[in-house]
Amino acid sequence: MPLRLASWLGILLAGSLAAAELAPAAPPPKSPTPGKTSRAAAEKQECIRHLKAIYAAIQAYQADHHDLPNWLSDLVPRYLEDVNMLLCPVCRRTGRTESPSLADPKLPSSYLFEFCPVPLGAAATNAPTRTRREWKRRQMSLLGSDVPLVRCRHHKPMLNLAFDGRIYESASVWELLFTNRVNVAELTPARLFAREAPPARPAPRADGKAGAAGPRKTKADPPRSEPAPPPREKK
Ligand SMILES: [Zn+2]
Repeated sequence: MPLRLASWLGILLAGSLAAAELAPAAPPPKSPTPGKTSRAAAEKQECIRHLKAIYAAIQAYQADHHDLPNWLSDLVPRYLEDVNMLLCPVCRRTGRTESPSLADPKLPSSYLFEFCPVPLGAAATNAPTRTRREWKRRQMSLLGSDVPLVRCRHHKPMLNLAFDGRIYESASVWELLFTNRVNVAELTPARLFAREAPPARPAPRADGKAGAAGPRKTKADPPRSEPAPPPREKK
């Protein structure tokens, strides 16, 4: 079965939610002027400085709370004194913020905190009440600490602060950097929460015995607590 990459990309983009909202009003010129190039480079360097400060603050928060914050604003002021660290220089110039559905509820922030407790909703048909944080934890079970903790989606390419503190650039769908290690489809909420789908009813067998005609069991299924979604569509 050929992987319908385009549709998986759509799902990942939906998981990232409203990346399109971040698109600039006008397309950038094909060959940026040197002035704009150096401004973009300076903004990127400043943003990286912010990301490093945010990472240090998250580490300090974790040391005290033994868990991640729910939002980056939870770091202010105790772990992150300067609230301006939550504003990327691009946003200070353009007025842009993170898309509303993933925006920090307490403070203006340019940064997408990937481990926020926002329910996945339609991005995970099997598990709409599971949170973005739970999804990211499951991605980590496949990719470890390369999974972004914080993203700045206001640069081209975008900036990612990985769980291990490394900062790397990527396209909107950062997962595409890791296709040598994992099938992109495996990182979608639909796939990572696939086991939460109710098993299809075993077809009755001619000899009357139950069970064997049911869906293939993989590993032990976790207890299901999600509302029953419709049967999964096989791609
Ligand atoms: Zn930035």
